Amino acid sequence: MERVTGGIAWAFASCALLALMLVPLAGDRGIQVATSMVILTSIAACFVAVKFHRINVLYALALVTAAAYLVLSALFDELDITTDVRWQPGLSNMLTNIAITLALITAVRARRGPFTTREMLDGASVAFGAIAVSWLLVANPLQERSDVALLPALLNAGVIPFSVILFGLTAALFASGVQEKPPMWFVAAGILLNLMAEITRSLIKTGAIDPIASHLVNGCIISAIMFASAAIMHPTVVDLVTLRPQLFRKPAGRVSVRVILVVITLLTPITLIAATSATSMLDTVIRVAIALILIGMTAGRMLHEAASSQRANQEILDRLHRDELTGLPNRSQLIIEINEVLEATWRSDRRPTLMQLNLDRFKNINDTLGHALANQVLIKVAERLCSAADTFGATVARTGGDDFTLLDPHATSSSQALVHAEAVQRALNEPIHVYEHTVFVTASIGLATTPKTRTIDADEFLRRADIAANRAKSSGQDCIAVFDDSMQANLATRMDVEHALHGAIDRHEMTLYYQPIVETSSGETNGLEALIRWKRGDRIVPPAEFVPIAEESGVITTLGTWVMLEALTDLGRWISDGTVPPTTTMSVNVSPRQLADPDFPDIVAEALNRSGISPSLLWIEVTESMMLAEPDLARRTLRRVRAMGVRLALDDFGTGYSSLSILQSFPIQRIKIDRAFVRGVAEPGHDQSLVRTIVAMGDSMGLDVVAEGVEEIEQLQALRDMGCAKAQGFLISHPVPTEAMRSTIRALADLQSLSMFDSYAEQTI
Ligand code: C2E
Ligand code: CA
Ligand code: CA
Repeated sequence: MERVTGGIAWAFASCALLALMLVPLAGDRGIQVATSMVILTSIAACFVAVKFHRINVLYALALVTAAAYLVLSALFDELDITTDVRWQPGLSNMLTNIAITLALITAVRARRGPFTTREMLDGASVAFGAIAVSWLLVANPLQERSDVALLPALLNAGVIPFSVILFGLTAALFASGVQEKPPMWFVAAGILLNLMAEITRSLIKTGAIDPIASHLVNGCIISAIMFASAAIMHPTVVDLVTLRPQLFRKPAGRVSVRVILVVITLLTPITLIAATSATSMLDTVIRVAIALILIGMTAGRMLHEAASSQRANQEILDRLHRDELTGLPNRSQLIIEINEVLEATWRSDRRPTLMQLNLDRFKNINDTLGHALANQVLIKVAERLCSAADTFGATVARTGGDDFTLLDPHATSSSQALVHAEAVQRALNEPIHVYEHTVFVTASIGLATTPKTRTIDADEFLRRADIAANRAKSSGQDCIAVFDDSMQANLATRMDVEHALHGAIDRHEMTLYYQPIVETSSGETNGLEALIRWKRGDRIVPPAEFVPIAEESGVITTLGTWVMLEALTDLGRWISDGTVPPTTTMSVNVSPRQLADPDFPDIVAEALNRSGISPSLLWIEVTESMMLAEPDLARRTLRRVRAMGVRLALDDFGTGYSSLSILQSFPIQRIKIDRAFVRGVAEPGHDQSLVRTIVAMGDSMGLDVVAEGVEEIEQLQALRDMGCAKAQGFLISHPVPTEAMRSTIRALADLQSLSMFDSYAEQTI
């Protein structure tokens, strides 16, 4: 069916073109035939459009009116234009134009939604400008003629404003993105032809053009109506009048084009009024009215512009200070409010409080529910917070993705603030329903009250609340922490260290100390453990003060890479210059974050490669935390390293929770008994039996066992007696800098030759 109507539509369009060429040449008879044909085709088109394309009756009506107009014109001999100006054809023409205008307005609105005020004002200006021009150029000259009355003159002049309006609407329809649809082109052709016809006709009547041209007028009108029939016959006409889904509404036409158009339509009548003089009293009155209305319209338009730009400004301001999702004040608005509160409560008894909330595990909610539903959760949380905050007069702001901040201007003490925070927590703990999902939300809350003794600014106030919130977060879920000055001090040192760590390697501030690992039986140096130190100014900073911070900030990966290469390079040098025997191993500590780095095995390979050290001489020391947190990742990385021939030691053995299960599921060759147990190994008791068990277990599993932190001879003896093969500790040697390595090794060898280790053995025997 669609193909049939589409074909017919194109046939109509071809007939329209033919009519345009043939009708002006044909005689009266030809015109009659063409007119009858046009009437038949319009009726057929209307039927198809309404029945099959389910198109609005209005469009059909417009076409019918146009066709009827043709009949009327023919009836009143209008097609055979004389210089007569009568009202009947003028009226029917006017009605046709009104019908077509309404049809086009409906189509444009259907395509792109309602007109904006600005577009309507522009449209009205243009239309009025055209009306004024049509008075000055057509209606007035016509009614000046003795044989023409005012009404027919006006009706006949209506053609100009309508043509302008129809053009504007056609342009708007084009701008709504229907260029590729044939009906759009048919409509445009019809309107263009109609305009040509009407203008020619008016000019004939005012005597400006020879009446001969009336043949052309007839051709144009017949052709125009055929084009209109073709348009509504074509199946894609439906697209012309259905709303185009669009995310952002584009204004009809470019603004600059519209402004130029408005200026022209305002300037033309003014110029005409100024250039010609009034011909009668009526003309004078109308000219004055036109001028006044034009001024009024310009003023109205300016007022509207001013008002809407103010509105736009307000909107922008609102958007700057509001969170779009929840409608709550955002961070910048909160800062404004905090400043006001701080100013108002200065020197009062009140201690305004900030409550910084961060939702626990919100990432999980986001991942499981998806973004849209998670947003709904946030909205519900915002509502809960608002109603809780209302009870004690606080305001709520959304300060980040899952961060909310409550500002309580009335609090008088931090204990009161704590009570409020607990109320907020309770409000959040009720389950939240989002569609069919039920979500449980908890929050970590940090509280900060203004200090009693001094004033602070909004920035500092917020920072304190933030610090407290971080503390709450690290204490677990659903916790509240109250800010105190020690938190600030901690944070300050942390930030200082973190800052200074960056580039510490480039500044050559990092250095390695080495602690020998010896055989308990012979005292022979078996290996070295690399321990990092930071020369910060005059101070040597121990790793405990910066390794955890480097770990948290991620600098540890750079640091670790450096340690690996540096330690292996040092070992290579010592082996080749004979400082240590060629079988000496190097133990390097590796942090969880390094293990999580997929490049870690490559980094190790590269370091081995560059230093020329055999993989079997490298021990990598790891603690169990990483293996517990991300077992799969850790296992994968460790296996790859192990496959290279590198050996793995489990550090701080015994301090963790699941050391045993780790031994079973990870490729580990050595355990290092933590200092804490070695301390008591010489006296009978719990530690002693524990160490004994560990050593026995290690032996049975074929593991190498090293005791850490051996400080006393008795400890060394006890360990050797238990069968612990290797030891490390201050008794044997402190960690020493590279330059002390040669003398340290020599001293250890001296001890050995003095049979110091043997003598321990003899003493105990
Ligand atoms: P760790 O791996 O358990 O290293 C042994 C720590 O015990 C070292 O402290 C060492 O100086 C100390 N120590 C050795 N013998 C004795 C003793 O007889 N008595 C006592 N009281 N202590 C002894 P250090 O050098 O301060 O290192 C502390 C921790 O820092 C290390 O513990 C290790 O976990 C970490 N660390 C050191 N260097 C690095 C490194 O290059 N990378 C990484 N990721 N961590 C490192
Ligand atoms: Ca270690
Ligand atoms: Ca250790």
